[in-house]
Amino acid sequence: MLTPQDEHWMRQAIAIARTKGDDPSCSPLGSIIVRDGKVLSAEPNQTQELPDATAHAEMMAIRRACEGVGDMELRGATLYSTLQPCGMCTMASIWSKVARVVYGAGRDDVHEMYFEDRHIDTLSFIADAYRDDIVIEGGCLREECAALYYGPDDDVPEEEQGNL
Ligand SMILES: [Zn+2]
Repeated sequence: MLTPQDEHWMRQAIAIARTKGDDPSCSPLGSIIVRDGKVLSAEPNQTQELPDATAHAEMMAIRRACEGVGDMELRGATLYSTLQPCGMCTMASIWSKVARVVYGAGRDDVHEMYFEDRHIDTLSFIADAYRDDIVIEGGCLREECAALYYGPDDDVPEEEQGNL
């Protein structure tokens, strides 16, 4: 169940995403991890900047949150992401033991370039996961989050399509 509190934190995730710029070509993805009303980390996508193919916003947020609390487990925390997490970030969420994953725009709300060709559907993936205590919910501020990205029918130049 999404709450007004979820929308509050998602607005902050959107603000983190926007630090990269307003243009979809800047990869404006943001993730924030919250526990007991306290922000443990807030990170944008940093794949180009580092450069590191694994530096998705969610991966960076998990790394910084674990560093910050000095624990590899983030039990009881909620991870917010402006876009539906990919297979890598979903798996990292499971390993980090976060209790919930809340995302904004879903796969159908944005251009297909944001996902692996043979996409792991994170919702069914979680449902089939070996842990039954992680919850994933999408559509939190869906329109605002989707507005950060190329739309499903946008004509995106091939060199900008990160999944090709
Ligand atoms: Zn990812």
